[in-house]
Amino acid sequence: MGEFGLNHIPAKNAACESGPEGSNPSLSATKHRAQRARCCYVKGSAVRYWIETLGCPKNHVDSDKLAGLLESQGYLVATSPENADLVVANTCAFIEAAREESIETVLDLADVKRKDARLVVTGCMAERYGEELAAALPEVDLVAGFGASLTVPTPVTLRATALPSFDLLNLPRPAPKAPWAYVKIAEGCDRRCGFCAIPTFRGDQRSRSTSEILSEARALVEGGVREIVLIAQDLASWGHDRRRAGRGEAIEVLDEGGTQPLIELTKALTSEVDRVRLLYLYPSGLTEGLIETILATKVPYFDLSLQHASRPLLRGMRRWGDGARFLERIAAIRAVEPDATFRSSFILGYPGETEDDQRALLDFIEGAQLDWAGFFTFSSEVGTYANDLDAPVAHELALERLREVSELQDVITAKKRDALVGTSQELLIDAPGVARSVRECPEIDGVVHVDPALIVGSMVKGEITASRGTDLEAVVA
Ligand code: SF4
Repeated sequence: MGEFGLNHIPAKNAACESGPEGSNPSLSATKHRAQRARCCYVKGSAVRYWIETLGCPKNHVDSDKLAGLLESQGYLVATSPENADLVVANTCAFIEAAREESIETVLDLADVKRKDARLVVTGCMAERYGEELAAALPEVDLVAGFGASLTVPTPVTLRATALPSFDLLNLPRPAPKAPWAYVKIAEGCDRRCGFCAIPTFRGDQRSRSTSEILSEARALVEGGVREIVLIAQDLASWGHDRRRAGRGEAIEVLDEGGTQPLIELTKALTSEVDRVRLLYLYPSGLTEGLIETILATKVPYFDLSLQHASRPLLRGMRRWGDGARFLERIAAIRAVEPDATFRSSFILGYPGETEDDQRALLDFIEGAQLDWAGFFTFSSEVGTYANDLDAPVAHELALERLREVSELQDVITAKKRDALVGTSQELLIDAPGVARSVRECPEIDGVVHVDPALIVGSMVKGEITASRGTDLEAVVA
């Protein structure tokens, strides 16, 4: 998979609404690695853990939950993998490049960890390739799927094909370390997009209940969070599985006028926190009601998972929509909110892709004038519909097409960023010297550079004074 240009800052995986297990179609899982450290003393002896996270925002939430679980068992964060007693690699299996990086990371951790420390591999690679991984990596003490105990002294039974019966969604998480946080509201996906293997190892959608989500959000707000970023593989479908199953608090939400469950959830969260941002919206799920709700959050940011604009190619991907419909919806939103921000991701080189398809995508990119976009080359995944399709596109040709659309989008993104110079924006200070307006999603888009003396977690009005690539500079009076 490859990605180029101004919009290539990784975080989402292009192929999944939620991204590669990740990022969704994270921009490149290969570039997006988070490190966490915590350390502690239990009954007089230090018991420390280190978690290294690869892949999309969903994986980062899982790592947070793992950290919460370990801390509830008395572990504390280590300052590096070298001084941890338990070293965990939370892997990404979204595409070949992500898998390669995961393996490299595991080998690097095996090199630097202490001899007596335990090395555990978890996450999507463990879930998808457990047996093979354990056989191929003798350096690893345990390969464990989602929710397995990482601290037991003997290896758990590996599952090559079974779906996770328990996952991390409702585990506690440690106190937030930034004024924003992802909240994962569902796991799995009921769709079967042609390129995507996620449902084969994450399973069908399981939505968390409204009360569980609200309670996690309230705890985060109490810990200083001012922006909550909702994620799931198919966010707009949150709650539908609970309605079908006839269980849980989401029913109450659904029964309030029978609206899209996500609408009611978003409204409920908006009354709890300053900013609510929604990621990974499948385009047919972007209903009029949801658009109104997003605009009412005061974060008019639309992360649409489009993947392409050519109707025949989208049908080949087993996905809804086409460029004309997408443009109509974008125009309708801009008619109400001219300042709305749009992000999307696209796959180049899907089997059967023609020059006409490429022209359709270029026309769409030109017409849509998206603020942000990520581009990925197709990666054939075992177990997917596309894996058996004829008419593969040569990788070099896919890369060439990717460069072409990426160059076009880079010009658009730069123009959009330049146009913000001289405007006043409300900024959330994420870290010393680093802020974001509602136009920038954390970890995915650019940032706004500000005076490092501004207090982290505060919201301030800033005047944008310069534009540098994807980033802006601002002064606060
Ligand atoms: S199958 Fe689900 S997770 Fe995969 S790309 Fe489609 S909507 Fe996203």
